[in-house]
Amino acid sequence: MPELLDRVTVVRHALGEGRRMFRDRAALERHQERLAVHHLRWVAAHSPFTARRFLEAGLGLGQWRELPPVDKAGMMAAFDTLNTAGLCLTDVLAVARRAEDTRDFTPTLPTPRGPVTVGLSSGTGGNAGAFVVSRGERLQWAGVVLRWLLPAFPLGLLHRQRVAFVLRADGGLYRSVGSARLAFRFLDLLRPLDELAADLTAYAPTLLIGPPSVLRALLGAGAVAQPTRVVSVAEVLEDDDRAALERGFGPVVQVYQATEGLLGLPCPHGHLHLNEGHVHFDFEPVGGPGDGGHLRPVLTDLRRTTQPMIRHRLDDLLVLADRCSCGLASRRVLRVAGRQDDALSLPGGAGRVTVWPDFLRGAMNRVPGLREYRVEQIGAADLRVLLDPLTPETWQEACVQICGALTRSGADAVRVRLGVQPLPAALPGVKRRRVRRLWRPESGEGPS
Ligand SMILES: [Zn+2]
Repeated sequence: MPELLDRVTVVRHALGEGRRMFRDRAALERHQERLAVHHLRWVAAHSPFTARRFLEAGLGLGQWRELPPVDKAGMMAAFDTLNTAGLCLTDVLAVARRAEDTRDFTPTLPTPRGPVTVGLSSGTGGNAGAFVVSRGERLQWAGVVLRWLLPAFPLGLLHRQRVAFVLRADGGLYRSVGSARLAFRFLDLLRPLDELAADLTAYAPTLLIGPPSVLRALLGAGAVAQPTRVVSVAEVLEDDDRAALERGFGPVVQVYQATEGLLGLPCPHGHLHLNEGHVHFDFEPVGGPGDGGHLRPVLTDLRRTTQPMIRHRLDDLLVLADRCSCGLASRRVLRVAGRQDDALSLPGGAGRVTVWPDFLRGAMNRVPGLREYRVEQIGAADLRVLLDPLTPETWQEACVQICGALTRSGADAVRVRLGVQPLPAALPGVKRRRVRRLWRPESGEGPS
């Protein structure tokens, strides 16, 4: 009865999670330090790459918070000696790609420590990331998600819940909690939108989970549902999407999940909190004029053992809020402010300045009659602006708004060339990025 055992394990994790929802910051930090002592000792003994990092930095395990961070590219380069299951990256990538091709979302690889689930993240600039999680880690994940997302936990478990996941992949990860009271439906993003919308309407989910751009497209395709909660995952949740989904489906909360782990969960007041019961966050200031309090997280996952994440620098930027009204001690995230690659680098007063995607999104949200857009940096001082619909009015207003945003960011708007084009229809299943930097300073065109 492995499935029954799994369900018991998941519910046990969910119930245990209540003890990790600290209301006292000092107690939360003591809890993290306790976890770190055990965890780092184990990881250093089983992950040669991690042991070497400590050695090369001349640091003891107790000084882990001073360890120089590693980023995603560094993690992937050292994959074979970083993971503790004896996996090599070539095998992992082959299994993950085959799974994506065959739409089999439970790809596993045997290891001496039991089978592990394999996944891929697309990432930006071809910088794909691979991730591996053990069965035990999956069940714990499911328990944590259940505890934070199920309305009225634990009494919510007594009512029948129908959870609809509209996702590209990773179905296996989520389906591990299915049962009679708790039913899961996995809606494959690569199917036609009107079929998906009809399926969703017929299923009548009590919890609806998916990327906001797709949920919004389903709404547009006529899907009707009144879930108690809509959960936004996998993409940055923008204000206009949130408003549309709340009008169409119901209250929206967001989960902050990345290749690097489950990083943030919504509190009872609907705000996003860092998953600090399991993950320790340090922050690096990003600096520069007009950065608006953006911080770059360096995380240390205090649980993951198959693919340890120790002092791992994320691509995302976060803006944190003051304490939340819900009383939880974990820090509240005001915004996940796009990816590093999405910040534009444009000529400014003395050299180049960073223009954050938030500024451009804000500008484009002010263009009347604009349904969808993309802004792409394609040269040292060249932006490609794709508009839907493209009319003389949206064209003119978009240019005015972008110039305003550039000027407010300290860029020299006069020197930036704007090329305006109609926006082609989006490919289904492709992760949407509205603001992208395709140009790289090192790609031959030096800073102007
Ligand atoms: Zn809160």
